[in-house]
Amino acid sequence: MAKIQMRTPLVELDGDEMTRVLWPLIKEKLIAPFVELKTQYYDLGIKKRDETDDQVTIDAANAIKRYGVGVKNATITPNQERVEEYSLKKQWKSPNGTIRAMLDGTVFRKPILVNNIKPMVRSWKKPIIVGRHAYGDVYKNAEIKTRTGGKAEIVFTDALGNETRKTIMELPGPGIIQGIHNTNASISSFARACFNYSLDQKIDCWFSTKDTISKRYDQTFKLIFEDIFENEYKQKFETMGICFFYSLIDDVVARMMKSKGGILWACKNYDGDVMSDLVASAFGSLAMMSSVLVSPHGYYEYEAAHGTVQRHYYKHLKGEKTSTNAVALIFAWTGALGKRGELDALPQLCAFSKKLEKTIIKTIEDGYMTGDLAAICDPSAKKILDSTQFIDTLAQRLKEIL
Ligand code: NAP
Ligand code: MG
Repeated sequence: MAKIQMRTPLVELDGDEMTRVLWPLIKEKLIAPFVELKTQYYDLGIKKRDETDDQVTIDAANAIKRYGVGVKNATITPNQERVEEYSLKKQWKSPNGTIRAMLDGTVFRKPILVNNIKPMVRSWKKPIIVGRHAYGDVYKNAEIKTRTGGKAEIVFTDALGNETRKTIMELPGPGIIQGIHNTNASISSFARACFNYSLDQKIDCWFSTKDTISKRYDQTFKLIFEDIFENEYKQKFETMGICFFYSLIDDVVARMMKSKGGILWACKNYDGDVMSDLVASAFGSLAMMSSVLVSPHGYYEYEAAHGTVQRHYYKHLKGEKTSTNAVALIFAWTGALGKRGELDALPQLCAFSKKLEKTIIKTIEDGYMTGDLAAICDPSAKKILDSTQFIDTLAQRLKEIL
């Protein structure tokens, strides 16, 4: 079979630890034999970020802006322990945070379902997709830890120099203060991204905030969503037979537990961070959650929802076998290749990416999987594979069907 040709390169962002070990295996065994892979490679491994004072992260985000589609490996967000472990100059910011701030947009996290892994929540029959606003709030905050008591204020100065000032609290003693923001433009594109996703997938859109408590901030999110829905989407939703539903986040959490799934849950940035891990784990495994950042400017960045699987990496370094699940990482590649195929009108590339995804599902459903899934699958696994055996099994099966 002749290899499938690509037109535009994918922007490839490599990462750290165990996922950095799996990354080249996925390319070499599952993609390169079938696709003449074109990528622009950026090394976002922690050493390179430290060497370049994190410039490489900014360069990679700019490359996604130029080419349109990126695929990202998991990366270390350094804390103090990591600074010591890797002798870093400082605690660099989260690369995902930097990239999301530059591209703006919404992250859609969708569980990858297989029929031999039952969700923990018995009523869930279809995926629950979390649409996470990827801009602002606590991820772009300003914080002060005070040594004494004092007056905490919030001040806004407009373009003409007029000040609006409010007292947050007269602190009686040492305390903490935090300022956060969002913009109407970003919230509007978040709303449109969610409504477009719902239409595309023909599923209801539920949106939750805490507007009873946050009477200006969260209420602005609610009003913008409602306004855009009424004016731009209501008719299309009715035609498609789907609905938009707004409620308080605590109410939505309770309803979600009793739902059948098949819903897009639009969440503010922090809510989406937490709820996507909860939803992924309840559907089975963090390693079975795909993730894509959809920017309002038409850029896409595909990644796995999990981290660098540090504990497995330390085992790997000691020469021990690991059973790390590469599914979400492979779905990052298939998502990116499929999108590239769609944008460049390469139906063969789209078909390849679908076939690879199907091969993964079928392999797991046939009973061949990594340890994380074997622990929860029913009926029991036929064979528990280590990290490389799983990729090799997929490669063998893919060769057979192609
Ligand atoms: P993690 O890498 O997501 O792993 C947490 C645990 O989940 C693992 O120890 C493992 O459980 C299980 N797990 C996750 N992915 C798995 C996979 N593919 N196969 C099998 N099991 C899997 O989170 P972490 O250990 O808390 O964080 C490690 C590093 O990742 C941190 O430095 C953090 O900054 C970074 N991180 C990056 C991203 C990103 O780039 N998108 C996201 C989150 C975290 P067992 O150990 O029980 O097997
Ligand atoms: Mg998280």
